[in-house]
Amino acid sequence: MIFDPFELNYSKVRAYLDCPFLYRYIYVERRFQPPTSFSSLGLSVHKALARFHAGKGGDLSDLLAHYEDAWLHQGYATAQESMEFYNRGARVLENWWLHFQENRAQVLYSEKSFEFPYEKWRVKGTIDRVDRMPGGLVELIDYKMGFEGRTGEDVAGSLQLSIYAIGLSRALNLKVGAIGYFVLTGPSKVSMLYDPAGEERTLGLLRETGEKMLALDMSRKGKCGRCPVRKLCAEFEEGGE
Ligand code: SF4
Repeated sequence: MIFDPFELNYSKVRAYLDCPFLYRYIYVERRFQPPTSFSSLGLSVHKALARFHAGKGGDLSDLLAHYEDAWLHQGYATAQESMEFYNRGARVLENWWLHFQENRAQVLYSEKSFEFPYEKWRVKGTIDRVDRMPGGLVELIDYKMGFEGRTGEDVAGSLQLSIYAIGLSRALNLKVGAIGYFVLTGPSKVSMLYDPAGEERTLGLLRETGEKMLALDMSRKGKCGRCPVRKLCAEFEEGGE
């Protein structure tokens, strides 16, 4: 895929905010970020849910069949580890299924892509799920595997959800009533009423980060110890922030 410096999306902006060298590594140098067991599991589960919703539902066996088809083998050290993670993902989906039966929602979109112009930028994204709400509103939901907890504060302060809410409004002309995370390992939903008052701040951050990425401003480093490319990055600093 051709590198487009004027395209902004959450992952790209997140990478730059985490570390400019991480952004350069992935998006400018187009170098490979190796999959991990957790990233592969998360992708497999996301794909299974997307296919399930796209197929207009079905029963649990349909969901598990989508999971089997979507299973990614990369990122596991051994066949046994792959099997353990596969079973873990199947349990997550079984629990999600039970939760979905008891909390039926009208799913309007899943894996919904959007794109809107903003000044010289094109802002793009893909949203896990959009549900109908009463009164012509929609609820934006991002699936998380939930290896870390999520709170209402996380939702309210989420750059990702804020970009997606603006995308729904500007690109798809939908009125966002609520935003939230569905924590698959709960399973539980953390949702908040959407307040568009923060949109200007989000767009300002996109503009500022976009300009720094264009200028390839490398004046700081992220937390090397937690970085996904720490074993491959020439800028790695032992004991860095
Ligand atoms: S290892 Fe450190 S310098 Fe390199 S990309 Fe990661 S955080 Fe940045």
